[in-house]
Formats: sequence, structure tokens, C-alpha cells
Amino acid sequence: METDLGAGKLVQLAPGVNRLIAPNPGMMTGPGTNTYILGDTEVAVIDPGPVIDSHIDLICELAPGPIKWILVTHTHPDHSPAVVSLAERTGAEKLGKPAPDGQHQDKTFEPDRILDDGNIFETAEFELEVIHTPGHASNHLCYLKKESGWLITGDHIINGSTVVIDPPDGNMVDYLNSLEKLMDKDLKVIAPGHGDPIDTPYEAIDWIIKHRLEREAKVVAELEAHPNSTISELLLQVYGDVHEKLFSVAERSLLAHLLKLEDDKSAKLDGDHWSLTK
Ligand SMILES: [Zn+2]
Repeated sequence: METDLGAGKLVQLAPGVNRLIAPNPGMMTGPGTNTYILGDTEVAVIDPGPVIDSHIDLICELAPGPIKWILVTHTHPDHSPAVVSLAERTGAEKLGKPAPDGQHQDKTFEPDRILDDGNIFETAEFELEVIHTPGHASNHLCYLKKESGWLITGDHIINGSTVVIDPPDGNMVDYLNSLEKLMDKDLKVIAPGHGDPIDTPYEAIDWIIKHRLEREAKVVAELEAHPNSTISELLLQVYGDVHEKLFSVAERSLLAHLLKLEDDKSAKLDGDHWSLTK
């Protein structure tokens, strides 16, 4: 689905599903963070983004009804920091999972209601099924709007690139399991945290799983050819197709793949050097 990806405009994607893009475009955020505004008479906001006053003003101005709830998919700095200020202005209830320890986590997010896998969040107009999807972040939640099959995916699935899996909070085993879990749901459209909606959800999820497993196969092949390799040595071989600017990020995902192989008992670490176990 192609839409206007300019920041600061309210775009109606479907009845009761509006999107406002925060003005934080960048290498990791694409056109900016997608803030979803659900409902017409009473409104739930998902992922209000970083603290940018003009964006928070627009959320309040353009929401079709009073903002009663603020939900977050996860607590990375481009998704949740605006919650505090938006909640102060609206009195809305804050929902999601608290930030885990570690870097790149928004500790200001303190939910009034902690959501868990399988919970149903209900308003007079719609229902959201809460799906716990660890992998990109351990506290990551997706929200499935039941009657229409719209799935709000945050950074579990984004449009335009693959997401970073940054250990230890990021975990490749969990990530793949969380993708598989979505294949059992009744999906029509993926509404990602960055980029346009994706109207072929199962194909998109399949592609991501395949792409990750292909990358893993490359890691295995490289370790087979060159046992006792360091991460930096592997990086050039396995992520040679990635732009240099993204190397530090690719290195985190490479580590996530190696930790998955270690978890499978297929690879082992000796000092700084990785090898296959057989
Ligand atoms: Zn994230």
C-alpha cells in the first residue's frame, strides 16, 4: 500500500485506523516513527514516538476524539518517550510492558496497566489482541485489531529494511519464534513502526524468516571455510552486501546469529574466536 509518507499529516489507512508520522526520519527510522491513532469517538494512540513537541501537539490536535489510552509496542527511544508528556496533557492511561535493563531503553515509560500475551484490549469501538513478540526487544508487543485483521507491528516488522537484533535484549531465537507465532493469526494488513502498510502479511513474514535463515547459512558456510574467525573477520564476508555505514548495526545482528548457533550447539566461542562445533 502506498501512502503519503510526509511527517505531520494524519493519513486515514482504514476506518478507525489513522497514522501520523513523527518528524524523526533517519537511517534507522526510515521516513520517521509511525504513530497510530485508533478509534473515532474515543482514541487509543500507539507509539507516540520521541519527545518532539510539534508531534505531540499534532497528535492532540488531529486525534478524532479524546485520547483515552496510550499503548507502546516497546520502549526504544524512537517509540515511547513522548508517552509521559502526552499522558500529562490528556490524562490517558498508559499500557505496555515496562523497559528492561540495558542500553537504548526508555526508562521514563511506566505503564498503568501491564499487558501480556493473549490479553484483549477493548474499547466501545474495537478490540486489540495483545501478542508478545520478543526478538527485536524482549518487551515487544504487537497489537491485532480483531475485526479488520490490521496488525500493528512496531519494530518487529518494518517496511523497507530488516530490523536490528541487538543482544542481549535482542534475541534471534526469540525473533524467529515470534515471526512464526504471527503466521497462525488472522492477518490482513501489517501496519509497521516505520514505512507503509504491507498488504501481503504472510508473504512478508515468510520472506523475513527466509532472509534470516539465509544469513545464518552464510555464517555457517563462512565458519566452515574459516574456523576460528573473529566477529570483525566474519562481518566482511557475511555482510559484504551491507553499506559500510550500517556495519556497526550489522555486527550486532551477526552476534545475534552466532548466539543462536551457540544456543543450537552448532557453534562455539573460544576467546574472541568462533568455530563450528563439528
Ligand atoms: Zn526498536
